[in-house]
Amino acid sequence: MQSIAPTNVVEIALPVPLRQSFSYLAPKGQAAPTTGQLVLAPFGSRDLVGVVIPKTDKNNYDHTKLKELKSCYNTELAIPEELLRLCLWLTHYYQHPLGEVLQSSIPPQLRQGKTPTASQQWQLTTEGKGLPETALKRSPKQQEILLYLQKHHYFLDEQRSEIGFNTSTLKALTDKKLIEKCEAQARAVNSSTLLKEPHLKLNSEQEAAVKAVRFKQATASLLHGATGSGKTEVYLQLCAQALEADKQVLILVPEIGLSPQTVGRFRSRFNSPLVELHSGISEAQRARNWLDAKNGHARIIIGTRLAALSPVKELGLIIVDEEHDNSYKQQDGLRYSARDLCVYRAHKLNIPIVLGSATPSLETLKQTLNKHYQHIVLKQRAAGTQAPELRCLDLKDQPQQAGLCAQSLTAIKQTLGQGKQVLVFQNRRGYAAVQLCHHCGWMSECPRCSASMTLHSRPARLHCHHCDWRTRPAQQCPNCQHDQLESRGIGTEQIEQELNRLFEDSDVIRIDRDSSRSKKAFTANLERIHSGKPCILVGTQMLAKGHHFKNLALVIITDADQGFLSPDFRGMEKMGQLLMQVAGRAGREQERGLVLLQSHRPEHPLLQLLCQRGYYNFARQLLAERQHNRMPPYSHLALFKAECKRPENATALLEHIAALYQRNNPPSAEHSLLGPMPCAMERIQDRYRFQLLIKSQSRTQLRQITSPLVEAIENNALSKRVRWSLDIDPQESN
Ligand code: ADP
Ligand code: ZN
Ligand code: ZN
Repeated sequence: MQSIAPTNVVEIALPVPLRQSFSYLAPKGQAAPTTGQLVLAPFGSRDLVGVVIPKTDKNNYDHTKLKELKSCYNTELAIPEELLRLCLWLTHYYQHPLGEVLQSSIPPQLRQGKTPTASQQWQLTTEGKGLPETALKRSPKQQEILLYLQKHHYFLDEQRSEIGFNTSTLKALTDKKLIEKCEAQARAVNSSTLLKEPHLKLNSEQEAAVKAVRFKQATASLLHGATGSGKTEVYLQLCAQALEADKQVLILVPEIGLSPQTVGRFRSRFNSPLVELHSGISEAQRARNWLDAKNGHARIIIGTRLAALSPVKELGLIIVDEEHDNSYKQQDGLRYSARDLCVYRAHKLNIPIVLGSATPSLETLKQTLNKHYQHIVLKQRAAGTQAPELRCLDLKDQPQQAGLCAQSLTAIKQTLGQGKQVLVFQNRRGYAAVQLCHHCGWMSECPRCSASMTLHSRPARLHCHHCDWRTRPAQQCPNCQHDQLESRGIGTEQIEQELNRLFEDSDVIRIDRDSSRSKKAFTANLERIHSGKPCILVGTQMLAKGHHFKNLALVIITDADQGFLSPDFRGMEKMGQLLMQVAGRAGREQERGLVLLQSHRPEHPLLQLLCQRGYYNFARQLLAERQHNRMPPYSHLALFKAECKRPENATALLEHIAALYQRNNPPSAEHSLLGPMPCAMERIQDRYRFQLLIKSQSRTQLRQITSPLVEAIENNALSKRVRWSLDIDPQESN
């Protein structure tokens, strides 16, 4: 037995669901890899890509039994110390295995052992540089490239099609030895060439906002302003400051908001290299962009949640747009919040972070109230538009057509008559929520889930949105053979069909996940809307974010009551945010938009508050209720879930840890446990799902309570047969 770790022994974190690291020997004849370096390690019958982590204090092992690493990757690809520390913090905070956390920060291609190739750029050769501007005027396409390069010096190969240059023209110029392709260089930005287009002149509120964000210190700010209040312009000007100081900027946007619009505004403002990081780009590209962020070639990094875990060499500013958005929280594996991670990251780096939203989360609002974050408000609408008027319509006893009451239909008619556009918001796709037998009460339930199957009309099918099970719609009741089948719960397809009938002369455009499967169809639909011609849009929350429709004057929310029905404690908050997001689509320059909320409870105080006094007052009221009930953000939650085809296994595992909780923790008002109980959706794909919710007044205590429970689960034989998870700060409590 060897008691002192020899220098060629290294600790490796491997992508396996085990809370431990593994010791290996450096490959024979090679120096030991350093902390952060990626290595290929034999593990069982496979080879896995792992990361070298700092040595632990364990040193009692048999040196002769250690395996040798297969190889070590180039140090260029190593995880930098800052990112490694972040991963260690995530491991601690979310109580998730380090090996898996580290994997989340490495792009898939690298994880599979492929090394990315560096980005390539096009530039002029010496000969090309000496060419007069007019030299190629007989070949306009070649001339265009020449002029572009004389002005901008270079462009990245991956930007080629976006700028609109084709490969044959590039080849022609290459053959003439006027341009060349080579590895992209990191370049110092020069403040005279930073801007591609001038900044807008800020209004006084925007100016105050830009001033309030201090560089060279850790300030977290909430930039609170309605859609159109000019937040993006503030981001752009803050970004410029960071770039001028030779820092990189990380910008997070929600999945659904990652429209070309957002990225386009940064691209058209700055000459600085910009990369995107999200799942919509090719894996090879993603690996390259990751590398460019790491080595500092890329100065602006825009991406979704996953970008929060990318290595950035000289990070100087973080922006999280739509900070309240659900997509910042990962719902499987490492259940982390990218927003919270960014706040921590900025704090550790001593740099500013700006969280932007029209409808901030209650977590963030609380931080502004206790002065941990600055609260910067943009009240005006930058482009001179006014906030829309919100009006509740009482649905009680009202006949409806296409899910709309008479007042709504009249308003549509008037708006179309004035040459303007209407949006009907219904957050359920398909034709109807369920098929129903009026005679015996049969309903189209999914055979594998505790949920009904949605009826779709084009193509006709019953479809379970939880497990993707599809079957033909029933022609007659499978239970009593009656053929009078009905449907309940109106969906976007049905509204579209009925509106087409009611407003024969008008264009009805449906936008939901079904109508937007192909990017082409989606873009074509958006173009029809942007043409500004009067039309009726029918859409789900796909339409709620990131789109500005200039001629949209009326928004109708068919069902404003969903928050009341939600079993989740965040139901009202989420509803308020969604309603305000959708409402924000209405309003044109100079003219105030109108939003009609159809409700069966229009007199509900919270709905009244939202309509009359706006989101902020509504949210303050919800916060007061949360404080009273000691719910987040005034307490902290940990949610254990267990699922299994045999329900008794799942409940036994949770009962085991519930009992341990009772034994370990004397009763106190400071913490509590709820469960085991079935999840809101008790069965998905034939797996039974149960949960256990632990609440505590302090984060430290929550950790002290949960960490022995995690250990107990792992040591329990049932954990091999049950799929289990722990979610710290869950988005939903069921
Ligand atoms: P948000 O991000 O809050 O939705 P934007 O920054 O996109 O707001 O601004 C909304 C619109 O107003 C955009 O068309 C933008 O170009 C314009 N805008 C923003 N700031 C100004 C300004 N200072 N002067 C003139 N127009 C502005
Ligand atoms: Zn029947
Ligand atoms: Zn199903």
